[in-house]
Amino acid sequence: MVVVGIESTAHTASVGVVNERAEVLAVASDMYRPPRGGIHPREAANHHVEVLPDLVRRALAESGIRPTEVEAVAFAQGPGLGPCLRAGATVARMLSLAWDRPLVPVNHCVAHVEIARVLSGLDDPMLLYASGGNTQVIAYARGRYRVLGETLDIGVGNFLDKLWIELGGSFPGGPALELEARRGAELLPLPYSVHGMDVAFSGLLTATLALHAKGVSRPDLAYSVEVTAYAMLTEITERALAHRGRDAVVLGGGVACNERLRTMVRTMVEARGGTMYAPPRSLCVDNGAMIAWTGLLSLGSGGTVPVESSAVAPRQRTDLVQTPWRGS
Ligand code: AMP
Ligand code: MG
Repeated sequence: MVVVGIESTAHTASVGVVNERAEVLAVASDMYRPPRGGIHPREAANHHVEVLPDLVRRALAESGIRPTEVEAVAFAQGPGLGPCLRAGATVARMLSLAWDRPLVPVNHCVAHVEIARVLSGLDDPMLLYASGGNTQVIAYARGRYRVLGETLDIGVGNFLDKLWIELGGSFPGGPALELEARRGAELLPLPYSVHGMDVAFSGLLTATLALHAKGVSRPDLAYSVEVTAYAMLTEITERALAHRGRDAVVLGGGVACNERLRTMVRTMVEARGGTMYAPPRSLCVDNGAMIAWTGLLSLGSGGTVPVESSAVAPRQRTDLVQTPWRGS
């Protein structure tokens, strides 16, 4: 059984092809990079409309799968930027009609958990989801994926991107800041904002920019920001583990590509006698394969929708989505 998945919640348009053994047969992605500043939803959506047809062709060619062999077409229904979501959903509807295959809506955050869960082989891990727009600790409980902790202001990735642009760099900031941080030596005191199982980044942003204005070196700033922000994420993950009596953590989201974050979370989890798994980077960032895989799971429990009722849901909450394949 093969499912095609379409991801377009934010800056990445991606098409994945996955089979029932969770083998990723193809992923074709193209990320919108704004000429300057942050992401503009309408421009990102135009980018997705332009690249998606070719991404579909590339993914099919790479997988060696013919449309007649495709069981269903899955798409990211939300959460995300409305215009971007609609671009992906439109392509998914069109493929569903053209190929006469069912359409399966998928929650983007649940997809990050499911791809990490199947790749890790861990039955019931907690997810630290650290991406551009989202920063959440998610665990399954009583029939739903629950958000145990989250950012109270901006996503950690957006924070890193905004900071890096203010420091004179360009989007995306996370990977560039990671390289810069390797050259840093001095750990500067910065605001550490953990509130129970939630975090906030705006104070950290303001304080870092104030130090920058005073002439503090960029490598030291990058190093101190990484250590501080990732310690906050590690702390809320540990608190969630302790609170729920769990011992396994998986990572997801673009910021989960970061080596320092991976090491810090791994060190914490292993010190507790648990297991940490981070997917390959291509499957941490937004990708069509996770949508295809979650669509395949949902298909197995009847999660199809008619084209007429396949509206996107930009504010869809993880904990309001049905996940019947997980049982209760
Ligand atoms: P996503 O929203 O999941 O597609 O991830 C995109 C975000 O991940 C952007 O904010 C990037 O700056 C961030 N990101 C990507 N790679 C890294 C990295 N190595 N370290 C930190 N952040 C990263
Ligand atoms: Mg994501």
